[in-house]
Amino acid sequence: MFEIITIEQLLSKLNNYNHVEIHVHHTWKPDHTDFNGSNGLQLQQGMRNYHVNSLGWADIGQHVTLLPDGKFATGRDFGQTPASIAGFNTGAFACEMLGNFDIGNDVLEGNQKDSILRLAKYFKDKGRYVRFHRENSGKTCPGTSIDKTVFMNEVENYGKEPVSPTTSPSRGNAPTPTPLPQEESLAEKIASAKKFVGTNCLQMQQKLNIIIRAGLLDLPLLSEDSDFGLKSFDKLIFLQGKYNLKQDGLYGDNSIAKINSIIEEINKPKADENVKVLQTLCNDLKIKDEDSHSLKVDGDAGTFTKYCVERLPMCSKKQSQVLAVKYIQTRLNELKFKGENGLALKVDSDFGNNTAHALGDYQKSKKLVNDQVCGRNSWLSFI
Ligand SMILES: [Zn+2]
Repeated sequence: MFEIITIEQLLSKLNNYNHVEIHVHHTWKPDHTDFNGSNGLQLQQGMRNYHVNSLGWADIGQHVTLLPDGKFATGRDFGQTPASIAGFNTGAFACEMLGNFDIGNDVLEGNQKDSILRLAKYFKDKGRYVRFHRENSGKTCPGTSIDKTVFMNEVENYGKEPVSPTTSPSRGNAPTPTPLPQEESLAEKIASAKKFVGTNCLQMQQKLNIIIRAGLLDLPLLSEDSDFGLKSFDKLIFLQGKYNLKQDGLYGDNSIAKINSIIEEINKPKADENVKVLQTLCNDLKIKDEDSHSLKVDGDAGTFTKYCVERLPMCSKKQSQVLAVKYIQTRLNELKFKGENGLALKVDSDFGNNTAHALGDYQKSKKLVNDQVCGRNSWLSFI
């Protein structure tokens, strides 16, 4: 079921998928000494047996193993999540380079190096992240002899200038240099960004709208129609600019990570000052929760707080409690309800006609019974 394919075959196969990043590993064992030039599939099968029988995985962990001759042995189905780097597996493409590239052992060179550079460049050119296993693990993988910065620099420059033959003894099949990218027109940029976002367009639009609704991007809402056009492109560019990301309009790793962290921040429950005041009021009036405890003044409107707040004293023109009325007047002022004199309420703890009038208007706005009595439902509505 596994097969040996060339880098060209691999890249054309990858065009059918939309992997979000590439993971680079070394196998450590087997290493170069185990490869005899024709046993790639056997070695791959050996790794699968180990992953399935010893580690208990459903299948071999990686999508491909890059052999020392620059060809690839296929592994896990490309459409399946790999067992690669914990926390980063979803949507990732996992490549194991056969060898032990810790200093003093195998050397990444020749066709094998050529293929990994091309593969990494394929991902980088799509704006996808190239992740070394060791970035998120205590391992040295893919080997201490491979410096990430140097590697990425080689990826960046791959095909731009001929590499000196002395550093690469077996470059017989070096590809012709790819032309430098031309400046794209806006339409072209949108078209490639649209292709890039693919089926994630709706998700992107929804997430941008969450951020816009939270008031963090001063922009009109997007229509959530899964259609990536100028408006989606513009808004993504705007967000990228605001958060110091590369403004390429591509919904890639960095943008996704930033957007997710903004939304996480938005969704974090915020300590509500008003709830804190209500909690303090309950405590001052010695209203205890079900367990006969005072409330923690934390601004968190949980069940204990609700239990106490609905037991705050009923206030009306007929009966009132000084601290409670003071709260009601302050709160109605904050919410901009006016007395029957058309003015903000005087916070005097005296439940008179103006307070009754403002409370009645407030009750109407909350679709509560407009009885000008602050009872259970009105108290709860203040949370
Ligand atoms: Zn690894």
